[in-house]
Formats: sequence, structure tokens, C-alpha cells
Amino acid sequence: MKKVFLTLMALAVMMFLLTGSMGCLGLGQIPPTSVGNSGGGVGDGHVPPGNDSEESPGEPEKPALPEEGPLPPNEAGRVMVLMYHNIDSLEGEWTRTPENFWSDLALLYREGYRLVSLLDYVRGEINLPKGYSPVVLTFDDAPRGQFNLVEENGRLVIDPKSAVGMLVEFDRQHPGFGTAATFYTFYPTPFRQQEHVVTKYRMLLELGMDIGNHSQGHQNLSTLDNTGVQRVLAGHVTDTRKILPEYRVASLALPYGARPKNRDLAVKGEYQGISYHHEAVLLVGSHPAPSPYHSGFNPAAIPRIRASDPYLSQWIEHFRRNPEDRYVSDGDVNVITVPAGREGDLNQEATGSRQVVSYSAR
Ligand SMILES: [Zn+2]
Repeated sequence: MKKVFLTLMALAVMMFLLTGSMGCLGLGQIPPTSVGNSGGGVGDGHVPPGNDSEESPGEPEKPALPEEGPLPPNEAGRVMVLMYHNIDSLEGEWTRTPENFWSDLALLYREGYRLVSLLDYVRGEINLPKGYSPVVLTFDDAPRGQFNLVEENGRLVIDPKSAVGMLVEFDRQHPGFGTAATFYTFYPTPFRQQEHVVTKYRMLLELGMDIGNHSQGHQNLSTLDNTGVQRVLAGHVTDTRKILPEYRVASLALPYGARPKNRDLAVKGEYQGISYHHEAVLLVGSHPAPSPYHSGFNPAAIPRIRASDPYLSQWIEHFRRNPEDRYVSDGDVNVITVPAGREGDLNQEATGSRQVVSYSAR
């Protein structure tokens, strides 16, 4: 036990050296990890280069954040919740290449989308500057390509071609984009490096990312009885607490998109004294999700968009042609701004004490 602790401390020290000071990161302040400083640098295929990636490491010249985004506010509009699986070198139905993942981020950024965590979305706490749209990133199954640690010159660093590495680097190059993401894991070995499971979970939290329930062992909930459903969902909570004792798993992505026969058990339940309560249940859906204030919003059944060709680009094109369908922030979390005529779309229970403001387009 002592040896494990010492090893962890050593890792923590390494991470500290690596990132400057992981412990006191604020969102949007994520320092360059070795991702940007790694020996190879940009241009040798390390990280897919962005437009402005030529800046030399150590001179973080951040462009000023534009005050307002490109679109008029509409907080009754729809939100894309994207679903990724593996990030790896061969593009396929369940795999996005690192290059394509980077292109996705670049496209979203250019189109005025910014990352918002799933929980902020379902709680209606979408805190973006005026004129920007939220987009939610979710990753299922925790394969290694989502979060890989590699040794470099004797130090443990985030693989710049894994999803976490690219998110951190993309945000560094594009301030304000954010790094919010939820990883739906199962056991016994999330992210497939047994020796680094604890380190990775801690790093995810340091980076402001979340861990979600994907059942204990990727079980199909539609095939289980009520006890079985609760056993595997509470089982995820149990296994997560073995790694992060204080962590509360707050959302579920249904394995195979399959709901339990008793749908309420996807939201909450209990097994042998361990209970769970999911504020959001994610489907393997195929279209954007309603605004959290919309009367059609159901946190127990949130559709997702498969983030691969052609779905993502099709939906981005859809919102380009139909901007009135798109959630656009007004820049104030306490005010809900909608175009005139859309007030009736809102669910008063969800809007709560927030002020609702409508405006005429012209
Ligand atoms: Zn899965």
C-alpha cells in the first residue's frame, strides 16, 4: 500500500512538473502540457496542426477573446450532444482518427460553438459569451485512444494524439473553446492501462472533465431484470469510488442505447446499499437535443449525434442553413433570451427563477 502511495506521489510530482501546476488550473487557463512542447513539435504529424499552430512553444500568445459571437441569442434552440467512441489511426464506424477529431474541433470552433459540460447543459447553466452556441462532447467505452499516457524521456505525458491530449492542446491554441467532456466508462479497466487508471481519473477531474456511468461491465440493460439493472448501475458507482472515493457519478449513457424495461431504473436505483441518481440519461440518438428550458426537454432521454461522417457535418450544415433552430447564448446565465414568438416553447418549471426576455428580430 505504501509503495502504491509513493508511486502515486511520484506520478503527481511528474504531472506537476509536466504541466506547471495541474493543481490550480482554472478552466480556460490550461497550460501547455507536454502535448505542445513534445520533442517532435508541430509538423511531424504529432498533433494535427491548426491554422495558428506555428506559434513557438513557451510563447503562449493568446488571441483576445471576441466579446460577441456571430449569432443573435436564441435560448429555445437545439443543442448538439456529440457521441464519440474510439480515437485511433483507422477511421471506421466507431473510430475517429486524431486528424478528423481535430478537424471536428476546428469546424465547431469556426462555426461559433464552444464546449459546455453535459451537466451544465442539463442544469440550464450554459455560461457562454453572447452569440455562441454550446456543444456537448461525450465519449463512450473508455478505449485507450480517448486517454492514453505515454512515457517521454522518462516522464509520463498525455499522448497528444489521444482525445484528452487534443482537447487540451486545441483549447490552448483557441482560448475560450473549453475542454468540457464526459467520459462514459466501464470496468475493470477504463482507458485500458491498468497501471494508470487512478492517475487518469484524477487528471480528468483536474482538467474539469467528467466521468459518467456506462454500467459496470457494458451490460445491455434491456436484457436484465430490475435487480440486475440496479446491480450493474450501482456497480459502476462502487468501482468508481474505489478510484475516486468522493466522486459522484451524475449521468448515464445507455450501453447499446438500450433502456431497461423499467425506465425509471435508468435514472435512479439502489443495490446493496449503494444508490445512484443520474441527472441525465443519454441515448444513442441521431438528432440535436432540445434546449434545457424547452417543454420538449427530457433529461431522462437525451438524444446524441454520432460524431462521425456524415452526421456531424450534416448537422452543422443544417444549423448553418437554419440558424433559428440553434441554441445561441445571450451571455447571461440568469436570463433566458428568445426571439419573439418562442416564449411558448419554454417550460416554466425549467426556466425557474430566471428572467425570460424576448425580442423582435428586426
Ligand atoms: Zn458503449
